Amino acid sequence: MNPEYASNLVNRRDLKPYLNADQFEFRDSVNRVLTRHASPEYVRQCDEEKRFPEELVKVAAEQGWFGITLPEAYGGVGGYLDMAAYLEIVAYHTIALARFWNANVNMVGGALARFAPDDIKGEVLPKLAEGRAFLAFALSENGSGSDAASLTTRGVADGNDFILDGTKMWISGALQADYILTAVRTNPEAKKHDGISLFLVPKESRGLTINPIDLLGGHAIRTCEVVYDGVRVPKEMIVGGLHVGWKKLTTVLSKERIALSAMCVGGAQAAIDLARWYANDRKQFGQSIIDFQAVSHLLADMQTRVDAARLMAFRAAKLLDEGESCDVESSQAKYFASDTYVQVATDGIQIMGANGYSAEYAMQRHYREAKMFQIFGGTNQIQRNIVARALKS
Ligand SMILES: Cc1cc2nc3c(=O)[nH]c(=O)nc-3n(C[C@H](O)[C@H](O)[C@H](O)COP(=O)(O)OP(=O)(O)OC[C@H]3O[C@@H](n4cnc5c(N)ncnc54)[C@H](O)[C@@H]3O)c2cc1C
Repeated sequence: MNPEYASNLVNRRDLKPYLNADQFEFRDSVNRVLTRHASPEYVRQCDEEKRFPEELVKVAAEQGWFGITLPEAYGGVGGYLDMAAYLEIVAYHTIALARFWNANVNMVGGALARFAPDDIKGEVLPKLAEGRAFLAFALSENGSGSDAASLTTRGVADGNDFILDGTKMWISGALQADYILTAVRTNPEAKKHDGISLFLVPKESRGLTINPIDLLGGHAIRTCEVVYDGVRVPKEMIVGGLHVGWKKLTTVLSKERIALSAMCVGGAQAAIDLARWYANDRKQFGQSIIDFQAVSHLLADMQTRVDAARLMAFRAAKLLDEGESCDVESSQAKYFASDTYVQVATDGIQIMGANGYSAEYAMQRHYREAKMFQIFGGTNQIQRNIVARALKS
């Protein structure tokens, strides 16, 4: 593919209201590193072989990328515009690394930085920032997805410890995690949003079993069932206080939506660039297929949608960076960007014909990976509910 496409993305003029010269330089360095270490062949292999991109994660750690948005005191650097600027470029090259980063740093690292006792922060965050310890986030269960607060995994006090029993589903990166931040019902008498606590459960705990689940896409970062069978965890591992975990959780969800929207924009731009390159190259009826208006108008619509999604993602990131509330804007960005990614990947396959459908090209992977983003991080229906609620006077 034309390498100029990636450098055009790095230096987009429409991001000037959001990013300074250092942030553009940072995007450039992320792009250079990933052009070298996340080749299309490597990314394809990891997906096909369901193989964790260990080498790439090591490179990301060496670059200091696992510190982005963490507090400086624990080896962190930068804010949420840095995060959006970074994730867009990472996802352009590989959704796998972007997803792994998001679960580790943005979700669990972010929750620990805000709510964990100092001992946990001091132990875990510096290791995370250096890529020496990994984390996963376990909220969903078979019976509780969108209605996550109806979770039934329970924690019963036993002396200085809690005993956890239950099963979590769809937990991304659980195989690599050293700790799993787990949402547990600790007070069954309380209303459903009350009586939930967050435990940082060491992966080596006795009674914990992790089983990968086969999915349509996203194979490089396995999504797992996590079974807690009498897992004993000291009460010191509670994050954010006993019974008040739900309130703490909701504060990290906006951040996740913004991260996911930036990732969708990067992934969708990669899909457009592949379709664009192909449409220029591919000849039928004696001309490049981009010269058929039916194809070029598809490309025009794809780019216009992605440009709009990008502005929504950066608008939400700027609000978050400035400490403004951004529940609605982050939901808008998440559902618009993920719907856009799905649409762009679908049209991308159409533009590439049988080659788009073939495992040889990345377009089919975009098609499979884009779909995940309409489901996790709160389904797009739930995001629309949030936006709709704000419109009710
Ligand atoms: C690849 C992948 C990775 C994931 N990683 C993690 C992870 O790391 N940790 C974790 O805890 N979870 C993870 N999840 C789970 C994810 O968060 C849930 O799948 C998601 O919250 C939706 O829950 P559900 O699948 O049970 O769907 P359900 O909640 O059963 O929803 C089914 C359908 O009903 C709709 N629906 C439900 N309620 C409403 C409503 N009130 N209004 C309108 N429509 C509604 C939904 O939009 C959806 O279309 C992951 C999921 C996937 C696919």
